[in-house]
Amino acid sequence: MQLIKVCSIFFIICAWGSINTVHSTDNVELEVICTNSTLNKSIDKAAQIAYYKVQDYFDDFQQLGKITIKVVESDKEFYDYMGDGFPDWGVGVALPDENAIVMKSPDLYNYPHEFDEVLTHEMGHLLLHQKLNGADIPRWFDEGFAQMVSTSWSLQQMTTMTLAVWGNNIIPLDHLETVNQFDQAKAKLAYTESFSTVLYIYQKAGKTGFNKFLETIHLNSDFERGFYAATGYTIKKFSELWQNDIKNKYHWAFLINDPRFIYFIMLALFLLALVVKLIKKYKLKRELEETHYHSNYEPPLENGGPTIINPKKW
Ligand SMILES: [Zn+2]
Repeated sequence: MQLIKVCSIFFIICAWGSINTVHSTDNVELEVICTNSTLNKSIDKAAQIAYYKVQDYFDDFQQLGKITIKVVESDKEFYDYMGDGFPDWGVGVALPDENAIVMKSPDLYNYPHEFDEVLTHEMGHLLLHQKLNGADIPRWFDEGFAQMVSTSWSLQQMTTMTLAVWGNNIIPLDHLETVNQFDQAKAKLAYTESFSTVLYIYQKAGKTGFNKFLETIHLNSDFERGFYAATGYTIKKFSELWQNDIKNKYHWAFLINDPRFIYFIMLALFLLALVVKLIKKYKLKRELEETHYHSNYEPPLENGGPTIINPKKW
């Protein structure tokens, strides 16, 4: 059987030697292998949190065998597991066939994201493959699910999608199969697109509908066939619908995300406030002048009033 390897832009590390088995409650068994004793405790805790966080997306999840988390301390050790074709920006990998996750040590490598987020991402890959039990999962769905369970949709993702829509740079879903060959910038867009796609499905279907969707794929033992049975759409048609949705959603969002637009709005509001202030000041001045004029005004008396004496005749 061909070894399935699912990479991510994240990772963790340690090394072989000490073995620390974590939790075996509720039929859950997680094993952490790490030679750095100072990391063991934090990785144990992160592994438990990651497992339950991902499991929460499933109904009636049944773990299939012990999950091993290996933390390595060298590139050589890491690439011994990865093999050829793994991108240099990768920091972790899920090995569904081995029920294992391999991470670079957070003590020795710079992580692009928090360690816990990376581990949860890889756990997402692993549990999804267990849930679908061997179905051939397309890369966009695999990465999108791992993103959805490990992070939240933020302004950063919105900006990435908005710029891609305006630049007409959206990558078709079927092109994401080769994400390992992308440079880091293109890979970032690919991961964000995958995230957007799976989130789109999850939000449309809800948790129960999403689980029925996964179950249908599992029963069909084929993602494309199961996808059609569950949604009534081919993946090609679905990809078109999703692209139309994001083009509508992120078309105008660009303006909101663009700092130049924000500065323009702030300047316009400042000028408007200044004009309003000047108008109020002018009106107040006019009112004061009117009041002053009326306070000095003496209306003429009836019957001609008093006789006015010409002071020049004094
Ligand atoms: Zn991944």
